[in-house]
Amino acid sequence: IGALRWHFLLQSLQDLQKSLCQLGSCLLVLQGEYEPVLKAHIQKWNITQVTLDAEMEPFYKEMESNIRRLGEELGFEVLSLVGHSLYDTKRILELNGGSPPLTYKKFLHILSLLGDPEVPVRNLTAEDFQRCRPPDLGLAECYRVPLPVDLNIPLESLSPWKGGETEGLQRLEQHLTDQGWVAHFTKPKTIPNSLLPSTTGLSPYFSVGCLSVRTFFYRLSNIYAQAKHHSLPPVSLQGQLLWREFFYTVASATPNFTRMVGNPICLQIPWYEDAEKLHKWKTAQTGFPWIDAIMTQLQQEGWIHHLARHAVACFLTRGDLWISWEEGMKVFEEMLLDADYSINAGNWMWLSASAFFHQYTRIFCPVRFGKRTDPEGKYIRKYLPILKNFPPKYIYEPWTASEEEQKQAGCIIGQDYPFPMVNHKEVSDHNLQLMKQVREEQQR
Ligand code: FAD
Repeated sequence: IGALRWHFLLQSLQDLQKSLCQLGSCLLVLQGEYEPVLKAHIQKWNITQVTLDAEMEPFYKEMESNIRRLGEELGFEVLSLVGHSLYDTKRILELNGGSPPLTYKKFLHILSLLGDPEVPVRNLTAEDFQRCRPPDLGLAECYRVPLPVDLNIPLESLSPWKGGETEGLQRLEQHLTDQGWVAHFTKPKTIPNSLLPSTTGLSPYFSVGCLSVRTFFYRLSNIYAQAKHHSLPPVSLQGQLLWREFFYTVASATPNFTRMVGNPICLQIPWYEDAEKLHKWKTAQTGFPWIDAIMTQLQQEGWIHHLARHAVACFLTRGDLWISWEEGMKVFEEMLLDADYSINAGNWMWLSASAFFHQYTRIFCPVRFGKRTDPEGKYIRKYLPILKNFPPKYIYEPWTASEEEQKQAGCIIGQDYPFPMVNHKEVSDHNLQLMKQVREEQQR
């Protein structure tokens, strides 16, 4: 977890703390390993019930079974609730006959058998909150939400995205006001390089639990019910939420989901190991402005558009550098505000054509891709100000400008900004052949 996400998480906790206080309750934050922390507080605070979110990630599955064991030992009840996802993935898997293969189409069919997701258990009342007063208010200061300095989190790395339910709800309301936009939302038509997100930008809020996916799902259903026509999965907004469910379901049934080796759904590819090239990609020094602008946005803000994720993921893996998707996934995990075990790995496998996606001959061009929706290069000028004075015709490939034109733009390629690190045409043709070979061998 990188600094941006730490800040986002702490802001979210602050916001939750504030809301609970307004309801006459309080949030106590306990720090440390969960077992000793629980052991130390169960008796002290006379805790009779521990509640947690059902999760797919192996770490949390193990945590749940350890807490259950502790519950039996120390005599508290454990409730694990399906809240982070819309559906109980176990139910979906049962209807799929136990385990994958599962396609999105088949997945939608199973969901149609299950019906709409359950609504939240019940709404809590002010009285519920008042019953949940902290055991000893005098102690509350020791259990306050930590500040970034308490955790040695660098203060300078702050994303413009602010954490918390309040912000998340505002963002949600803002988008839902435009009912036409919601009803006709078509994901592939959204723009990866707009200066403000062209999609909802709600993923960080779902990710750390500031916003409920059920709230979003039902608000969308209400809008669809009133619209004459609306888009459908996989491209609609509800369809996006269902992709999330899809990856949770497959991840929960796949061993080693975040790795290539030992992962039964993942194509085994002999990727190159090249720390220097990986570093250039990560630190926005590939020499392709479109790729570097995206990686800069990721570094500075912790969020990038889905198609921008496509561009940089394809470039790192099957498109240009032929470096393992696991490396890219780790970088995303560190930098994304919405970093998620199942969704991140699932999408990286998709983009590298290691699983789910088989049209591997479609390779994104690091020059033409961005140009289509931003011919002027405003996005590049924002994130790579060193290039801002190049005229539009050079902004995606500044190395093609003459020496004189580079001087005029105040940026000499090879000195102030790198030359492209690869010849895209050559490496992508070569990689395509490699991919064909790997697939043929493994099919045999
Ligand atoms: P919207 O288009 O507004 O969609 C609404 C919600 O649907 C999102 O908030 C998200 O929860 C869900 N969603 C949308 N697209 C997808 C998708 N393809 N897969 C699963 N759920 C989706 N998303 C993460 O939340 N965490 C990750 O770690 C993550 N890693 C990714 C890595 C790669 C290589 C790629 C290509 C995509 C990744 N995504 C990840 C999926 C997707 O890019 C983001 O969920 C989306 O861009 C978030 O922006 P939004 O909230 O505006 O999405």
